[in-house]
Amino acid sequence: MPKQRCLLAIHAHPDDESSKGAGTMARYASEGARVVLACATRGEAGDILNPRMERPGIKERIAEIREAELETACDILGVERVYQLGYRDSGMPGTEWNKHPDAFCNADETEAVGRIVEIIRRDKPDVVLGYDESRGYEHPDHVKVHEWGTEAFHAAGDPDRYPDAGDPWLPSKLYYFATFSKQRMLKLHEAATAEGIDSPYGGWLENWDEMGFEDPAITTQVNVHDFIEASHKALLAHATQIDPDSFWFALPIELHQRVYPWEDYTLVASSVDVQTPEHDLFEGID
Ligand SMILES: [Zn+2]
Repeated sequence: MPKQRCLLAIHAHPDDESSKGAGTMARYASEGARVVLACATRGEAGDILNPRMERPGIKERIAEIREAELETACDILGVERVYQLGYRDSGMPGTEWNKHPDAFCNADETEAVGRIVEIIRRDKPDVVLGYDESRGYEHPDHVKVHEWGTEAFHAAGDPDRYPDAGDPWLPSKLYYFATFSKQRMLKLHEAATAEGIDSPYGGWLENWDEMGFEDPAITTQVNVHDFIEASHKALLAHATQIDPDSFWFALPIELHQRVYPWEDYTLVASSVDVQTPEHDLFEGID
């Protein structure tokens, strides 16, 4: 019997999984792949961004609530196993949160990488999804997911590293999420404007270069047409973070499906032969 396909996504905070690659996880889960998620922090530095959740008792239990929101979102997306690494949220760059000794950005590198290596060796993903350098955003937790996730991907296959963390397993491919791209935003913005819909992307597009956002190289586009609705539902499960009246939902699902039904990725490492552009993360593996 062929090995069951397995996809591992590594994220920084509860809700990142629903705003980056959610449709991809839902699609591959529906096609029978095992989808596994590792989330580094509990997101306790997150403000309550939904006025409906400005209620007593929420802020005090924010970490616990965000972990529960993550579980709900993962159920919606068909994620089979969720690893909550439980590090403390490092907060936005330049805040006091960055200095806390338990913050993810202050974790011991060997220990943090080792924990991700252990997950890779246990679940044996064929494909790993992680973060790029996060230029223009620079959230310390996202930067560390980039550095330590990439490091763990390579270390997991090396028998000399982390010998106590399980048998070596080198996933076939590593991708970075290329979700935040000017190309995608521009296409949605233009289509919305042409149809008389108030686009939420105008300001971002105007300030794109100034903000230092790097437009990612897109090597791979996964069609998630039938899973955009699920990804919106998963986002809404993060009730403390996501306002149902916010920009996330400003454009009709139908417009997303028609104009940009893809989730985008940058292929950064592969031990199998591939030709880009690709349309399937598992291309060349089976
Ligand atoms: Zn995040």
